[in-house]
Amino acid sequence: MKILVSACLLGINCKYNGGNNKKEILVEAFKKGVLIPVCPEQLGGLPTPRQPAKIKGKDGREVIEGKGKVLTVTPPFKDVTENFLRGARETLKIALMLEASACILKEKSPSCGVLKIYDFYSDNLKAGMGVTTALLRLNGFEVVSSDEEEKIIKLLSEWVG
Ligand code: SF4
Repeated sequence: MKILVSACLLGINCKYNGGNNKKEILVEAFKKGVLIPVCPEQLGGLPTPRQPAKIKGKDGREVIEGKGKVLTVTPPFKDVTENFLRGARETLKIALMLEASACILKEKSPSCGVLKIYDFYSDNLKAGMGVTTALLRLNGFEVVSSDEEEKIIKLLSEWVG
């Protein structure tokens, strides 16, 4: 059994600013060989570091439906929608190949967010999921937020031991 995890949560420096979002409990589980790190934005062909981006639209579902876009947050507000879609598709490909039991993704990201993403027009958070989360869910995968501590502990105790 395999669980996909946002690579930045394991301390991999794939975040837009070249940093990471290391979460010790996941690093310990990774060492046991069950977690598979993925970074949808890198898989989509974006460099690291890169310009941060936000979803213009309701959330990742709208991007998949062609109703929303992903744009960088600073001028010239480059359209990176295709990169985000490609990264989501590549992540889905990995999840399907491995028949992943679940995915643990980084909250608030326009790719990996599960419960919250940033509002395009302000610095506020709003309810919604990122593009990769939306595609994984559309294909029946369970996606847990990096902020859902209890769910993560339960998942790891079930699958990692
Ligand atoms: Fe982390 Fe996901 Fe952003 Fe990659 S795309 S840096 S895995 S939150």
